[in-house]
Amino acid sequence: MDLSDLADRVKKGERRALARAITLIESRRDDHRADALALQDALGDTDRSALRIGLSGTPGVGKSTFIEAFGLMLTGQGLRVAVLAVDPSSARSGGSILGDKTRMERLSRDPNAFIRPSPSQSQLGGVARRTREAVALCEAAGFDVVLIETVGVGQSETMVAEMSDLFVLLMAPAGGDELQGVKRGIMEIADMILVNKADGELKSTATRTCADYSGALRLLRKRPQDPEGFPKAMAVSAVSEDGLQTAWEEMTALADWRKESGHWESRRAAQARHWFEEELRHALLAQLSRDDATKTLVQTLGEEVAEGAIAPGKAAGQVLAHLGKSG
Ligand code: GDP
Repeated sequence: MDLSDLADRVKKGERRALARAITLIESRRDDHRADALALQDALGDTDRSALRIGLSGTPGVGKSTFIEAFGLMLTGQGLRVAVLAVDPSSARSGGSILGDKTRMERLSRDPNAFIRPSPSQSQLGGVARRTREAVALCEAAGFDVVLIETVGVGQSETMVAEMSDLFVLLMAPAGGDELQGVKRGIMEIADMILVNKADGELKSTATRTCADYSGALRLLRKRPQDPEGFPKAMAVSAVSEDGLQTAWEEMTALADWRKESGHWESRRAAQARHWFEEELRHALLAQLSRDDATKTLVQTLGEEVAEGAIAPGKAAGQVLAHLGKSG
């Protein structure tokens, strides 16, 4: 494979080349991994920067409807939009909640949009690491906005927030009881809560829900990375498209404020460090299953630890000594 040619075509923004490059970084073959790293080198520092928006919400809240309408609005304004996904179910079952090809059909036909389903990997960490690299590829390909979609389950939201400049939570209109059920942790990573389906019969409930969230957000401790009024809740409708332009203006206003105040850069720097540590941790763990001798040693020591024949710390030390000698 001619990697410098592939890099050139990615930089020109060719969607087929971008898709191929992402396939390469998602591969788990060792030789592909080497090529993927070489590709990243060949792309170099392109000085291009996209607005990376993380978007989460439970199934049925309207994520794909929202992304399609929002994405088309942005491409209509001359922006290039990439959509990536971190699907926790792809890690467990190889199936997907998010990856369905029939979703966002109009957006996928737009020449200024690029849609990529979640990579399937055995662990969520692997899905997230590769998606993070795909974000960088989309950026190198000159996309202006990268939307990273996930489902409100467990760790996936935190992982997506770690690769986003802004994190948006999409919520359904609901009664006060359901509001109580929103995990505090997720409220704390959200920069905006969009209450979707503010149309027709649901409009008044959506407006009330939005007011409830606004109240709840005001109770959170003020974060240094937020200007006055953030995080904020807004009502939108992905179907009638009401509020989408305003939501976009709020997102860009927040992004601009963070750029001017230096929070943007420090967040990206902290994220880069986080992913470096993740890669390192993963690579070190992979050492434990790199050959049969090591696997057998770990297995045997595990049994001895279970029988009480050796202390856990001492057993771990023996594995590390083995890795050091044979590595
Ligand atoms: P996802 O599972 O989060 O991707 O949700 P979908 O985008 O597939 O939407 C789930 C359902 O909610 C579909 O029947 C949509 O038509 C509906 N829906 C999505 N957005 C809106 C909206 O703004 N208003 C109304 N009334 N329905 C919506």
